[in-house]
Amino acid sequence: MTTGEKQTIATHLKNSGVSRRNFLQLCSKIIVAAPIGLSLTSHRTAAQVAKIVGKARRPSVIWLHFQDCTGCTETLLRTSAPDVAHLILDVISLDYHETLMAASGAQAEAALKSAIEDNAGKYVLVVEGAIPTRDDGVFMELAGRPSIQVVKEVASQAAAVIAMGSCASWGGVPSADPNPTGAVGVDSVISGKPIVNLPGCPPNPYNLLAVVLEYVTMGRLPELDQFARPKFAYDRVIHENCPRRAHFDAGRFAASFGDEGHRKGWCLYKLGCKGPVTHASCASRHFNEIPGCGRSGRGFRVSAALKKESCGRWGRSRRCPST
Ligand code: SF4
Ligand code: SF4
Repeated sequence: MTTGEKQTIATHLKNSGVSRRNFLQLCSKIIVAAPIGLSLTSHRTAAQVAKIVGKARRPSVIWLHFQDCTGCTETLLRTSAPDVAHLILDVISLDYHETLMAASGAQAEAALKSAIEDNAGKYVLVVEGAIPTRDDGVFMELAGRPSIQVVKEVASQAAAVIAMGSCASWGGVPSADPNPTGAVGVDSVISGKPIVNLPGCPPNPYNLLAVVLEYVTMGRLPELDQFARPKFAYDRVIHENCPRRAHFDAGRFAASFGDEGHRKGWCLYKLGCKGPVTHASCASRHFNEIPGCGRSGRGFRVSAALKKESCGRWGRSRRCPST
Protein backbone atom coordinates (compact mmCIF):
# COMPACT_ATOMS: atom_id res chain seq x y z
CA MET A 1 0.00 0.00 0.00
CA THR A 2 1.41 3.36 -0.96
CA THR A 3 0.39 6.73 0.39
CA GLY A 4 1.29 10.33 -0.40
CA GLU A 5 0.97 11.99 -3.83
CA LYS A 6 -1.12 9.82 -6.11
CA GLN A 7 -0.70 9.05 -9.76
CA THR A 8 -3.56 9.64 -12.11
CA ILE A 9 -5.69 6.56 -12.54
CA ALA A 10 -4.73 6.29 -16.21
CA THR A 11 -1.02 6.41 -15.43
CA HIS A 12 -1.34 3.86 -12.66
CA LEU A 13 -3.33 1.48 -14.83
CA LYS A 14 -0.79 1.80 -17.62
CA ASN A 15 2.11 1.15 -15.25
CA SER A 16 0.24 -1.82 -13.80
CA GLY A 17 -0.25 -3.36 -17.21
CA VAL A 18 -4.04 -3.04 -17.16
CA SER A 19 -5.48 -3.06 -20.65
CA ARG A 20 -7.76 -0.32 -21.88
CA ARG A 21 -10.29 -3.00 -22.68
CA ASN A 22 -10.47 -4.08 -19.03
CA PHE A 23 -10.71 -0.49 -17.86
CA LEU A 24 -13.57 0.16 -20.26
CA GLN A 25 -15.32 -2.94 -18.94
CA LEU A 26 -15.06 -1.57 -15.42
CA CYS A 27 -16.43 1.80 -16.53
CA SER A 28 -19.33 -0.04 -18.17
CA LYS A 29 -20.08 -1.72 -14.86
CA ILE A 30 -20.14 1.65 -13.12
CA ILE A 31 -22.59 2.91 -15.73
CA VAL A 32 -24.76 -0.14 -15.13
CA ALA A 33 -24.60 0.41 -11.37
CA ALA A 34 -25.45 4.09 -11.73
CA PRO A 35 -27.20 4.65 -15.07
CA ILE A 36 -28.82 7.83 -13.76
CA GLY A 37 -28.24 10.09 -10.81
CA LEU A 38 -24.48 10.55 -11.15
CA SER A 39 -22.86 13.43 -12.98
CA LEU A 40 -20.03 11.10 -13.90
CA THR A 41 -22.17 8.63 -15.80
CA SER A 42 -25.22 10.59 -16.96
CA HIS A 43 -25.54 10.53 -20.75
CA ARG A 44 -21.99 9.28 -21.15
CA THR A 45 -20.48 6.28 -22.87
CA ALA A 46 -17.96 3.99 -21.21
CA ALA A 47 -15.20 5.64 -23.24
CA GLN A 48 -16.23 9.09 -22.02
CA VAL A 49 -16.38 7.90 -18.40
CA ALA A 50 -12.98 6.26 -18.81
CA LYS A 51 -11.52 9.52 -20.09
CA ILE A 52 -12.82 11.47 -17.09
CA VAL A 53 -11.87 8.81 -14.53
CA GLY A 54 -8.43 8.32 -16.10
CA LYS A 55 -7.52 11.96 -15.51
CA ALA A 56 -8.38 11.83 -11.81
CA ARG A 57 -5.80 11.02 -9.21
CA ARG A 58 -6.29 7.71 -7.47
CA PRO A 59 -8.48 8.45 -4.46
CA SER A 60 -6.98 7.57 -1.11
CA VAL A 61 -9.21 5.19 0.82
CA ILE A 62 -8.79 4.22 4.46
CA TRP A 63 -10.97 1.25 5.37
CA LEU A 64 -11.70 0.50 9.02
CA HIS A 65 -13.36 -2.58 10.50
CA PHE A 66 -15.58 -2.58 13.53
CA GLN A 67 -18.31 -5.02 14.55
CA ASP A 68 -18.52 -6.86 11.27
CA CYS A 69 -18.17 -10.23 9.59
CA THR A 70 -15.84 -8.94 6.83
CA GLY A 71 -18.51 -9.80 4.28
CA CYS A 72 -18.46 -6.26 2.93
CA THR A 73 -14.75 -6.64 2.20
CA GLU A 74 -15.43 -10.01 0.66
CA THR A 75 -17.93 -8.52 -1.75
CA LEU A 76 -15.22 -6.20 -2.98
CA LEU A 77 -12.73 -8.99 -3.49
CA ARG A 78 -14.65 -12.14 -4.22
CA THR A 79 -15.83 -11.36 -7.67
CA SER A 80 -16.08 -14.44 -9.84
CA ALA A 81 -13.79 -12.60 -12.24
CA PRO A 82 -10.62 -11.87 -10.23
CA ASP A 83 -9.54 -9.24 -12.74
CA VAL A 84 -12.44 -7.06 -11.65
CA ALA A 85 -11.35 -7.12 -8.01
CA HIS A 86 -7.78 -6.26 -8.98
CA LEU A 87 -9.00 -3.50 -11.23
CA ILE A 88 -11.03 -1.89 -8.44
CA LEU A 89 -7.94 -1.90 -6.25
CA ASP A 90 -5.96 -0.32 -9.08
CA VAL A 91 -8.47 2.49 -9.50
CA ILE A 92 -8.63 3.38 -5.81
CA SER A 93 -5.60 3.66 -3.57
CA LEU A 94 -6.44 1.49 -0.61
CA ASP A 95 -3.95 2.99 1.81
CA TYR A 96 -5.10 1.17 4.91
CA HIS A 97 -7.16 -1.98 5.25
CA GLU A 98 -6.61 -4.31 8.19
CA THR A 99 -7.76 -7.44 6.41
CA LEU A 100 -5.70 -6.96 3.29
CA MET A 101 -2.48 -5.51 4.65
CA ALA A 102 0.44 -7.66 5.69
CA ALA A 103 1.31 -5.53 8.70
CA SER A 104 -0.08 -6.23 12.16
CA GLY A 105 0.27 -4.84 15.67
CA ALA A 106 2.51 -1.78 15.98
CA GLN A 107 3.31 -1.87 12.27
CA ALA A 108 -0.37 -1.67 11.41
CA GLU A 109 -0.83 1.27 13.77
CA ALA A 110 2.11 3.03 12.14
CA ALA A 111 0.59 2.36 8.71
CA LEU A 112 -2.70 3.93 9.78
CA LYS A 113 -0.95 6.97 11.19
CA SER A 114 1.06 7.36 8.00
CA ALA A 115 -2.00 6.94 5.77
CA ILE A 116 -3.85 9.64 7.71
CA GLU A 117 -0.95 12.10 7.75
CA ASP A 118 -0.09 11.64 4.08
CA ASN A 119 -3.66 12.11 2.90
CA ALA A 120 -5.14 14.36 5.59
CA GLY A 121 -8.28 16.09 4.40
CA LYS A 122 -8.33 14.12 1.15
CA TYR A 123 -9.00 10.50 1.95
CA VAL A 124 -12.32 8.73 1.91
CA LEU A 125 -12.98 6.77 5.09
CA VAL A 126 -14.87 3.55 4.47
CA VAL A 127 -16.38 2.06 7.62
CA GLU A 128 -17.34 -1.60 7.73
CA GLY A 129 -19.27 -2.80 10.76
CA ALA A 130 -21.26 -1.25 13.57
CA ILE A 131 -19.79 0.91 16.31
CA PRO A 132 -20.25 -0.30 19.91
CA THR A 133 -21.22 2.60 22.15
CA ARG A 134 -22.42 1.10 25.43
CA ASP A 135 -20.18 1.64 28.46
CA ASP A 136 -18.01 4.09 26.53
CA GLY A 137 -17.44 1.56 23.77
CA VAL A 138 -15.50 -0.85 25.95
CA PHE A 139 -16.75 -3.82 23.94
CA MET A 140 -14.29 -3.25 21.12
CA GLU A 141 -10.81 -1.86 21.34
CA LEU A 142 -8.23 -1.15 18.66
CA ALA A 143 -4.65 -0.83 19.85
CA GLY A 144 -5.93 -0.45 23.40
CA ARG A 145 -8.44 2.29 22.62
CA PRO A 146 -12.22 2.05 22.33
CA SER A 147 -13.12 1.75 18.67
CA ILE A 148 -15.53 4.68 18.96
CA GLN A 149 -12.52 6.91 19.65
CA VAL A 150 -10.66 5.53 16.67
CA VAL A 151 -13.49 6.08 14.20
CA LYS A 152 -13.97 9.63 15.44
CA GLU A 153 -10.28 10.42 15.10
CA VAL A 154 -9.89 8.95 11.63
CA ALA A 155 -13.13 10.56 10.43
CA SER A 156 -12.03 13.95 11.71
CA GLN A 157 -9.45 14.22 8.92
CA ALA A 158 -11.42 12.49 6.19
CA ALA A 159 -12.93 14.28 3.23
CA ALA A 160 -15.98 12.03 3.36
CA VAL A 161 -17.20 8.92 5.14
CA ILE A 162 -18.88 5.96 3.50
CA ALA A 163 -20.73 3.42 5.63
CA MET A 164 -20.25 0.15 3.76
CA GLY A 165 -23.04 -2.32 4.51
CA SER A 166 -26.02 -2.51 6.82
CA CYS A 167 -23.93 -2.84 9.99
CA ALA A 168 -22.10 0.42 9.34
CA SER A 169 -25.22 2.14 8.05
CA TRP A 170 -27.52 1.53 11.01
CA GLY A 171 -26.15 -1.19 13.23
CA GLY A 172 -27.23 -4.24 11.25
CA VAL A 173 -26.65 -7.67 12.75
CA PRO A 174 -24.62 -6.49 15.79
CA SER A 175 -27.53 -4.30 16.85
CA ALA A 176 -29.91 -7.26 17.08
CA ASP A 177 -32.04 -7.20 20.21
CA PRO A 178 -31.07 -6.88 22.97
CA ASN A 179 -28.06 -5.17 21.39
CA PRO A 180 -25.71 -5.75 24.34
CA THR A 181 -22.91 -3.59 22.94
CA GLY A 182 -25.08 -0.63 22.00
CA ALA A 183 -24.11 -1.08 18.35
CA VAL A 184 -25.03 1.81 16.06
CA GLY A 185 -24.31 3.01 12.55
CA VAL A 186 -21.41 5.34 11.90
CA ASP A 187 -23.62 8.39 11.38
CA SER A 188 -24.75 8.08 15.00
CA VAL A 189 -21.24 8.82 16.26
CA ILE A 190 -19.78 11.06 13.52
CA SER A 191 -20.92 14.58 12.78
CA GLY A 192 -19.66 17.44 10.66
CA LYS A 193 -18.60 15.20 7.76
CA PRO A 194 -20.37 14.18 4.58
CA ILE A 195 -21.62 10.62 5.17
CA VAL A 196 -23.00 8.22 2.60
CA ASN A 197 -24.80 5.05 3.69
CA LEU A 198 -24.57 1.99 1.45
CA PRO A 199 -26.78 -0.54 3.22
CA GLY A 200 -26.92 -4.13 2.09
CA CYS A 201 -25.53 -7.31 3.48
CA PRO A 202 -23.26 -6.98 1.65
CA PRO A 203 -23.87 -4.03 -0.67
CA ASN A 204 -22.97 -3.79 -4.33
CA PRO A 205 -19.23 -2.96 -4.61
CA TYR A 206 -19.84 -0.98 -7.80
CA ASN A 207 -22.04 1.38 -5.80
CA LEU A 208 -19.05 2.06 -3.55
CA LEU A 209 -16.80 2.63 -6.54
CA ALA A 210 -19.38 4.89 -8.20
CA VAL A 211 -19.70 7.06 -5.08
CA VAL A 212 -15.92 7.37 -4.67
CA LEU A 213 -15.33 8.16 -8.33
CA GLU A 214 -18.18 10.68 -8.45
CA TYR A 215 -16.52 12.41 -5.54
CA VAL A 216 -13.02 12.53 -7.02
CA THR A 217 -14.05 13.40 -10.56
CA MET A 218 -16.97 15.77 -9.95
CA GLY A 219 -16.05 17.04 -6.50
CA ARG A 220 -19.36 16.14 -4.94
CA LEU A 221 -21.28 13.24 -3.54
CA PRO A 222 -24.33 11.84 -5.31
CA GLU A 223 -27.79 12.98 -4.33
CA LEU A 224 -28.87 11.23 -1.15
CA ASP A 225 -32.25 10.25 0.28
CA GLN A 226 -33.50 10.82 3.83
CA PHE A 227 -31.32 7.96 5.09
CA ALA A 228 -28.19 9.29 3.34
CA ARG A 229 -28.39 6.53 0.74
CA PRO A 230 -27.46 7.49 -2.84
CA LYS A 231 -30.66 7.75 -4.82
CA PHE A 232 -29.07 6.22 -7.90
CA ALA A 233 -28.90 2.87 -6.10
CA TYR A 234 -31.71 2.94 -3.53
CA ASP A 235 -34.58 4.78 -5.17
CA ARG A 236 -36.54 1.65 -6.15
CA VAL A 237 -37.72 -1.40 -4.24
CA ILE A 238 -36.52 -4.85 -5.29
CA HIS A 239 -40.09 -5.94 -5.95
CA GLU A 240 -40.24 -3.71 -9.05
CA ASN A 241 -37.63 -5.70 -10.93
CA CYS A 242 -37.74 -9.08 -9.23
CA PRO A 243 -37.55 -12.00 -11.65
CA ARG A 244 -40.48 -13.57 -9.77
CA ARG A 245 -42.64 -10.49 -10.29
CA ALA A 246 -44.67 -12.05 -13.10
CA HIS A 247 -45.75 -14.76 -10.68
CA PHE A 248 -46.73 -12.14 -8.11
CA ASP A 249 -48.85 -10.34 -10.67
CA ALA A 250 -50.45 -13.61 -11.75
CA GLY A 251 -51.17 -14.63 -8.18
CA ARG A 252 -48.83 -17.62 -8.18
CA PHE A 253 -47.29 -17.93 -4.72
CA ALA A 254 -45.19 -20.59 -3.04
CA ALA A 255 -46.99 -21.67 0.11
CA SER A 256 -44.13 -23.49 1.83
CA PHE A 257 -40.47 -24.10 1.28
CA GLY A 258 -39.93 -27.01 -1.05
CA ASP A 259 -43.45 -27.12 -2.40
CA GLU A 260 -44.21 -27.20 -6.10
CA GLY A 261 -44.53 -23.42 -6.35
CA HIS A 262 -41.21 -22.92 -4.62
CA ARG A 263 -39.50 -25.34 -6.97
CA LYS A 264 -41.07 -23.62 -9.97
CA GLY A 265 -39.76 -20.22 -8.92
CA TRP A 266 -43.10 -18.66 -7.97
CA CYS A 267 -43.39 -15.53 -5.87
CA LEU A 268 -42.30 -15.89 -2.25
CA TYR A 269 -44.39 -13.11 -0.74
CA LYS A 270 -46.37 -15.53 1.40
CA LEU A 271 -43.13 -16.94 2.77
CA GLY A 272 -42.11 -13.57 4.12
CA CYS A 273 -40.30 -11.90 1.24
CA LYS A 274 -39.64 -8.23 2.01
CA GLY A 275 -38.84 -7.25 -1.57
CA PRO A 276 -41.86 -4.93 -1.74
CA VAL A 277 -40.41 -2.72 1.02
CA THR A 278 -36.69 -3.19 0.44
CA HIS A 279 -34.94 -0.34 -1.32
CA ALA A 280 -31.98 -1.76 -3.24
CA SER A 281 -30.89 -2.31 -6.80
CA CYS A 282 -29.89 -5.97 -6.47
CA ALA A 283 -32.70 -7.15 -8.73
CA SER A 284 -31.69 -4.96 -11.65
CA ARG A 285 -27.96 -4.43 -11.15
CA HIS A 286 -26.22 -7.66 -10.38
CA PHE A 287 -22.86 -7.79 -8.74
CA ASN A 288 -20.05 -10.22 -8.11
CA GLU A 289 -20.83 -11.41 -11.64
CA ILE A 290 -23.66 -13.57 -10.29
CA PRO A 291 -27.29 -12.62 -10.73
CA GLY A 292 -28.59 -12.37 -7.21
CA CYS A 293 -27.49 -11.78 -3.69
CA GLY A 294 -23.85 -10.91 -3.20
CA ARG A 295 -23.67 -12.94 -0.02
CA SER A 296 -25.55 -16.08 -0.89
CA GLY A 297 -24.17 -16.12 -4.40
CA ARG A 298 -27.35 -17.65 -5.72
CA GLY A 299 -30.62 -15.91 -6.15
CA PHE A 300 -31.85 -12.88 -4.31
CA ARG A 301 -32.17 -13.16 -0.63
CA VAL A 302 -35.70 -11.95 -0.95
CA SER A 303 -36.25 -14.44 -3.75
CA ALA A 304 -34.98 -17.14 -1.51
CA ALA A 305 -37.35 -15.71 1.10
CA LEU A 306 -35.02 -16.95 3.73
CA LYS A 307 -35.94 -14.57 6.51
CA LYS A 308 -38.55 -12.17 7.68
CA GLU A 309 -36.22 -9.20 7.69
CA SER A 310 -34.49 -7.59 4.75
CA CYS A 311 -30.91 -6.43 4.45
CA GLY A 312 -31.67 -3.16 2.72
CA ARG A 313 -34.61 -2.01 4.78
CA TRP A 314 -33.81 0.73 7.20
CA GLY A 315 -33.86 -0.40 10.78
CA ARG A 316 -35.02 -3.89 9.84
CA SER A 317 -31.76 -5.71 9.44
CA ARG A 318 -31.73 -7.00 12.97
CA ARG A 319 -31.23 -10.51 11.76
CA CYS A 320 -28.76 -11.33 9.05
CA PRO A 321 -30.78 -12.70 6.14
CA SER A 322 -28.20 -15.31 5.38
CA THR A 323 -27.82 -16.79 8.82
S1 SF4 B 1 -23.45 -5.70 6.45
FE1 SF4 B 1 -23.57 -7.96 6.36
S2 SF4 B 1 -21.78 -8.56 5.12
FE2 SF4 B 1 -21.39 -6.44 5.85
S3 SF4 B 1 -20.25 -6.68 7.81
FE3 SF4 B 1 -22.46 -6.56 8.33
S4 SF4 B 1 -23.14 -8.72 8.47
FE4 SF4 B 1 -21.19 -8.68 7.33
S1 SF4 C 1 -40.42 -12.77 -4.52
FE1 SF4 C 1 -40.64 -10.90 -3.25
S2 SF4 C 1 -39.70 -9.25 -4.46
FE2 SF4 C 1 -40.06 -10.98 -5.86
S3 SF4 C 1 -42.09 -10.56 -6.75
FE3 SF4 C 1 -42.45 -11.86 -4.96
S4 SF4 C 1 -42.85 -10.40 -3.26
FE4 SF4 C 1 -41.88 -9.24 -4.95
